Amino acid sequence: MSEAREMAYVCPYCGKAFEITTYTTVNTRDDPDLRDRCLSGDIFRHTCPHCHTQFMVQPHMVYTDMDHRFILWLSDVELPPSVKAYAQPLAAAGFRLRRCSTIEEFTEKIQVFEDGMDDILVEIAKYDCFIEFIDNRKGNPADITSIEYQSTKNDVMKINIRTDDKGMSFHIPVNLLEEEIKAEADLYSIDEAEIPLVNSAWVISLFTQAQGNA
Ligand SMILES: [Zn+2]
Repeated sequence: MSEAREMAYVCPYCGKAFEITTYTTVNTRDDPDLRDRCLSGDIFRHTCPHCHTQFMVQPHMVYTDMDHRFILWLSDVELPPSVKAYAQPLAAAGFRLRRCSTIEEFTEKIQVFEDGMDDILVEIAKYDCFIEFIDNRKGNPADITSIEYQSTKNDVMKINIRTDDKGMSFHIPVNLLEEEIKAEADLYSIDEAEIPLVNSAWVISLFTQAQGNA
């Protein structure tokens, strides 16, 4: 079952108070419409009834997808040990467990896991695209606004890099990424029971560590 709560909120634009509804848990089997609203980000979007400005509010949320067997914790802070106590049996049962520190990470993770993709492959792909973007001088790295997973079709992953004025797509064969992981299996290993963050900061930290050790 999904759970919502009413929350007093002060509009960051006009300073007036009002109530918003945020979800603390979303179960996609019980509420497929909430899954749609999570994927679109719509569930986080609120409009101030006083000044009518639209803005995003990021609550702490647990998102459970039993059909694709993954659970996401949307939280910008480390999870308490009481939460991690539940993780071990879930990890043993084959669930993917992730913390997502931002709404962008959260919506992307839903897409990746629904596509049946390994999110470690996705983060490596995004990093590789970033390096290619810089090496081939396709633009100024400072202008990059986002690097996003789009989809995987016929074993080819599509990654988009956006800058202020344009977008660029990269197509990467999944088997190349799998080989890249296999070559450095220890480096890329994660512990599901720790409910890890697997995001761009994570992949960059791996490469920085690896260079430090070399
Ligand atoms: Zn307002």
